[in-house]
Amino acid sequence: MLIFPVFIPQKGCSFQCVYCDQKQFISVEEVDFTVLEKQIRQFCSKNINTHKQIAFYGGTFTGLTLSQREKYYNLVRPFIDNKTSIRISTRPDAVGYEDLNWCKNHHIKTIELGIQDFSDVVLKASRRGYDSKTAIEACFRIKQEGFELGVQLMPGLPGSSPSSHRESSGTLQGVLPDFVRLYPLIILRGTPLWTEWEKGYIEPLTLEEAINICVEYYDIAERNNIAVIKTGIPSLGKNSEYVGPYHPAFGELVKGERLIRKIEAEYKSGDTIHIGKNEISLLTGHQEYNLRKLMKRLDLNYIKLVAGAVKIERLLNK
Ligand code: SF4
Repeated sequence: MLIFPVFIPQKGCSFQCVYCDQKQFISVEEVDFTVLEKQIRQFCSKNINTHKQIAFYGGTFTGLTLSQREKYYNLVRPFIDNKTSIRISTRPDAVGYEDLNWCKNHHIKTIELGIQDFSDVVLKASRRGYDSKTAIEACFRIKQEGFELGVQLMPGLPGSSPSSHRESSGTLQGVLPDFVRLYPLIILRGTPLWTEWEKGYIEPLTLEEAINICVEYYDIAERNNIAVIKTGIPSLGKNSEYVGPYHPAFGELVKGERLIRKIEAEYKSGDTIHIGKNEISLLTGHQEYNLRKLMKRLDLNYIKLVAGAVKIERLLNK
């Protein structure tokens, strides 16, 4: 599925969530409709025969007034056909039956919910403004009304713990969305959470903690046929200041950790390790971060990997 993203930074949001500053991810605040229309036309004409969606991200689409929604809809309506539909992202407390009816009548096929966590402890500590019941009900309502459902989760929010992660993973398996996005919390300067971090009230996850939690979610998603379409936040603005487990290739680190666990489980002492050709970069990319991790995990100072015709040997200076 190809996506053309239209960002509506924090539009339709009833308040600013403690960790959120969408404006740090994108450079424009106001959508220029003339430019957008031209870009969407180009995108659609280049991909006539491909399934694609025009997606409204970065705000609460169903929190917009009806006239605001119509304005966005009218922008994209000329491009809707049997291969082109609309995707929106919104909050679980902003999708009642009336909103879903509106969506049905306006070519919206996919709804992504910024759930962030299914644990009440976390939702309360993070001041999300809704509880787990509201989040779960919204998921089932969206599915029952025939939409494709995406769930966004944010490990590492205030109040989270191994037990809240277990609770959230368990609920995810009950809800069974079509796909998930995993965005470990990054604390951005300028957000209310930054102030709390400066006062020492919260501590972000380390990179390894965030990777491990996402691997667990990934495994659960795979076992339950839930697609993981994104792991890690999009790139930050040049001048963004942050603390937390941000890495430009976070998704690759998560896939690499999954591969390491698989190798570890099958490894017999002295073995040459065979991996798939498309798995090499997971170990050798990013200054061989995962390759060094694998060697440490297997307690090796020499490793031999074979991927098809490619052979890799490394000596680790301990
Ligand atoms: S609802 Fe979403 S976009 Fe709006 S402030 Fe909260 S996290 Fe940001």
